Amino acid sequence: MIVTRFAPSPSGRLHLGHAYSAAIGRAAGDSFRLRIEDLDQTRCKPEFVDGIFEDLRWLGIDWDEPVLVQSQRTAHYQAARDDLRARGLAYACFCTRADIAQSLTAPHGDAATSYPGTCRHLPDDPERRASTPHSWRLNSAAALELTGLPTWTEHDGRTFSAKAEDIGDAILARKDAPASYHLSCVVDDAESGVTMVVRGADLRPSTPIQRLLQQLLGLPEPAYLHHPLITHLDGRRLAKRDLAPTLAAMRDAGVDGPTLVRQLLAGEVPSGFRLQDA
Ligand code: GLU
Repeated sequence: MIVTRFAPSPSGRLHLGHAYSAAIGRAAGDSFRLRIEDLDQTRCKPEFVDGIFEDLRWLGIDWDEPVLVQSQRTAHYQAARDDLRARGLAYACFCTRADIAQSLTAPHGDAATSYPGTCRHLPDDPERRASTPHSWRLNSAAALELTGLPTWTEHDGRTFSAKAEDIGDAILARKDAPASYHLSCVVDDAESGVTMVVRGADLRPSTPIQRLLQQLLGLPEPAYLHHPLITHLDGRRLAKRDLAPTLAAMRDAGVDGPTLVRQLLAGEVPSGFRLQDA
């Protein structure tokens, strides 16, 4: 049985790219799960959670099993982080807040940020930790020694091997947020029994680090379907600042949701947009 998932962040209304991802996820899975990635409490808003349900209903996309809401699952992420820490695979890092804030959201299209390892060999200092904002980072050198470079398999059977430069000391958690995107993603994909991770090709750079975390935490290995992205005709990404039309606006303009899903699955995108090669 193929179990897929759609994992939007409620930091705005869904747009055409989300509809495409959800449509592919639903169509590729025998069972389809919905997860709300709302760990970034500064950007996520309850009304956008309602918007996700409303937009999926309009598209005619339903899901199996109760919705998994990340903000309700913090103890699970903490346990995973503690496990890594107890095994010498995570360390406290006192470097910049900007880095740390960024780690909560999926890094669409960005290359993995490299970290020079400044705090990697600091002796543990509980007092400093109690008084200073910090994050928890993966000790990737120690991790790779255990597992070697991770590999992953795409849905069509192609296998890939990570390169050393794909893997850095990724942030796992921070003092005031229990998990980064990478850590919460692998813990929750396993919790939901996801066998195929369906997401945009812009998130492919996240796959090596997530495969490494799965191995370290003893989690099952899913297959991956990194789908092409829908962009504006000139190649610009769909984003709020690029005035991407929201699904809510398309509905108000009279578009029929299920028809849109059928067209997207047939590779037809509305005029003004195109599918970029994955
Ligand atoms: N929450 C992420 C997003 O908004 C999805 C990450 C994933 O599918 O792994 O794009």
